[in-house]
Amino acid sequence: MSRGLLQIYTGNGKGKTTASAGLILRALGHDWRVLLVRFLKPADSTSGELTILRQLSGIDIIDAGLGGIYDAADPLAVAQDVQQTFALAKKQITQDYDLVVLDEFNGLFRRGYLALEDALEFIDTRPQMSELVLTGRHAPAELIERADLVTSMEALRHPYNQGVGARQGIEY
Ligand code: ATP
Ligand code: MG
Repeated sequence: MSRGLLQIYTGNGKGKTTASAGLILRALGHDWRVLLVRFLKPADSTSGELTILRQLSGIDIIDAGLGGIYDAADPLAVAQDVQQTFALAKKQITQDYDLVVLDEFNGLFRRGYLALEDALEFIDTRPQMSELVLTGRHAPAELIERADLVTSMEALRHPYNQGVGARQGIEY
């Protein structure tokens, strides 16, 4: 395939992680090799798409086990976990992958879990053949200006604001 591009899915509306899951399915359907790295997802959190993706060949998945998106885990422990996972991911991200998705990556900087310079260095020196997709709210300008494709999910409405909690099969 040709040179991979950098894509960013950001914004406060729903659809960032599910868009990346849809893209992964599309890529696997063409026998692409895929790496999915999930940041800020507790080890016991099983979102439905993961159950299916784990059954498919062609995809490797790395979970950063600590820290829910909104929970109050010890920030230092979360930062350490995020940085270890990022180091592992960088080692594993090679030309062998056609598509690499770093889920919830964009928000890591705002909370001080990862240094932006480390992310920028990785992006600027990444294997050029892999398409790279970064998801998560609050993508910093430095990431956006490096991206070839940026989609911001706009939250016009969300049932959460009517008191409807996370629903199995829809939110996870
Ligand atoms: P999804 O995983 O459904 O594609 P997302 O990745 O865009 O959502 P995140 O920012 O990762 O959304 O949010 C995590 C959880 O919060 C998801 O379960 C998502 O459905 C839910 N969510 C998304 N947008 C909103 C919103 N505007 N208000 C409240 N909850 C939201
Ligand atoms: Mg998400």
